[in-house]
Amino acid sequence: MSRPASVVINLAALESNFQRVRQLAPRQKIMAVVKADAYGHGIGRIARRLAQADAFGVACLEEARQLRDAGIRQPIVLLEGPFSADELPAIQQLDLEIVIHHPQQFPMLAAAGRDHALRTWLKIDTGMHRLGFPPAEVAAAREQLLGYAAVSRDIRLMTHLASANEPGDALTTRQLQTFADCTAGMVAERSIANSAAILDWPDSHGDWVRPGLLLYGVSPNVQRPSLDEGLQPVMTFASQLISVKRLHKGDTVGYGATWTCPEDMPVGIIAAGYGDGYPRHARSGTPILVNGQRAAMIGVASMDMLAVDLRNAPTAQVGDPVVLWGDGLPVEEIADCAGTIPYELLCGDRKRTRFHEQG
Ligand SMILES: *Cc1c(COP(=O)(O)O)cnc(C)c1O
Repeated sequence: MSRPASVVINLAALESNFQRVRQLAPRQKIMAVVKADAYGHGIGRIARRLAQADAFGVACLEEARQLRDAGIRQPIVLLEGPFSADELPAIQQLDLEIVIHHPQQFPMLAAAGRDHALRTWLKIDTGMHRLGFPPAEVAAAREQLLGYAAVSRDIRLMTHLASANEPGDALTTRQLQTFADCTAGMVAERSIANSAAILDWPDSHGDWVRPGLLLYGVSPNVQRPSLDEGLQPVMTFASQLISVKRLHKGDTVGYGATWTCPEDMPVGIIAAGYGDGYPRHARSGTPILVNGQRAAMIGVASMDMLAVDLRNAPTAQVGDPVVLWGDGLPVEEIADCAGTIPYELLCGDRKRTRFHEQG
């Protein structure tokens, strides 16, 4: 038998989440964000299933190339790029769209071939203070862009929100106002909203929404559990019990002997660990489904194995299925128990873990 740690990618759930985004933003075009290997789900399989997406957003040329190699024909936006002038021939050849966020990128455009006008998005820093032109420089940057033969005439405008996952947040209100003010009168398509803004800030929807996390069935907002929002988890991280033992009161479990049995009890060992992308900082008590029943992780995760308290699943046996997150156990909950965010868990290194597709 091969190693039981595996990831199941439910493509029917992906499609359903896409429709949910459509409902939330019915008049907008949808740029599906598939950076970081589609948040760890596999960029090719995810993009192929999103035939209805109006565009894809990626972080770099290599990711865009993977999409084209997978047969994707829709527009692809390099959300941070180009990074250097030597990328431009490939960007033009692959027919990619670019985001211009810094004056450093202007000379790259001057050096680009003139026979292919690149669709260009001008990124504005309305308060996140990561990428983008300051509001006062937007008009001039747009004029400058229009001066390059390699830039298509219909420049689009975009910004990114820092804390849209907090309903009623004052910074978000200011960012939306700043964006409206500094782009007033410009005839252009506009894009502001990530997943959190799609859910909670309808005024931010503009012409294009840019969902990432929602497509994967995960809520960006702890106050809005994914199931309540009509989302279905696309990734299920699963494995099996490879050992079940009865331990005695006072026995300790795992590295560092950090967990002590409070009574005689059954303890299971699961074939999955941080070498499969399970968070090493998950605390004792982090839920795990054993035969569909909630049980608690105990001790600390090791590279290949996890220990689980089986007092809630006393009939569990070697070979029984466990779910670490996904179907029946939201990854948001695991992230919370590990002091991180679901994005990080989804993107975890799963090179040795088997992937299956479903739906
Ligand atoms: C990653 C990213 C998104 C998607 O964010 P989610 O929170 O996953 O929806 C949208 N826009 C930009 C610019 C991004 O970098």
